[in-house]
Amino acid sequence: MFDIADKIQHITNDINETCAKVGRNSSQVKLVIVTKSAEFEQIKEVITLGCTDFGESRVQQLKKVAAQVDDFLDRAESITPLPSKIDWHMIGHLQRNKIQQILPIVSLIHSVDSLRLAEEINSSAAKLDICPRILLQVNTSEEPQKYGVPVGAAIHLAEQFQTMPNIQLAGLMTMASLTLNEDIIRRSFSRARDLFFEIKGEKVVGPQFTELSMGMSNDYRIAIEEGATILRIGSAIFAG
Ligand SMILES: *Cc1c(COP(=O)(O)O)cnc(C)c1O
Repeated sequence: MFDIADKIQHITNDINETCAKVGRNSSQVKLVIVTKSAEFEQIKEVITLGCTDFGESRVQQLKKVAAQVDDFLDRAESITPLPSKIDWHMIGHLQRNKIQQILPIVSLIHSVDSLRLAEEINSSAAKLDICPRILLQVNTSEEPQKYGVPVGAAIHLAEQFQTMPNIQLAGLMTMASLTLNEDIIRRSFSRARDLFFEIKGEKVVGPQFTELSMGMSNDYRIAIEEGATILRIGSAIFAG
């Protein structure tokens, strides 16, 4: 049995080693800790270890846990200094009628996969006078049941997002198939990376287009090799 600190250390070592192997700087890879399957005690432990980026896939859970964490940070008397604030990432499918609830809380929405959703975020954000960072979620595995826009539609959609004054398109997000076949996983991630550079090259986006969110517990090493800048990892830290 390994405790949470060991598991995070193990993942951090893996990130460093994989980056070194492919000549990347590990400061370019951010670890978002996905808390959806975590107990609150475990989340507190992760915070005391100094982690500051957390992800949730459901709006209700995100609101609840973010409030609990705020409360904990307000009251905690810890020997080690705690982070003053946590950055929350919305990583799951988002319904338009829930946008208003999360906008004040999240620092990055990974799962924007339609024009209507982007328009709704843009207009809700305008009312709050904010300009949230979002990622365009792309379906690179071509599984019909997956969320995300088809690769072929992504550039045009990125162009449309770019015209909306109250959102900042900060990059792409993708998920690979749930498979042990590394070639299939790698193909998904390399497709996302190619698309990322294609969108950048077409100059439809600005310098704020920097993020490639891909890689989860079972495939994060491959994602780093293919250029991920954000990993979303849950079960490798909290399961078992
Ligand atoms: C749950 C989830 C993750 C984390 O998956 P693990 O396999 O537990 O690391 C990452 N991204 C999304 C969108 C998720 O829903």
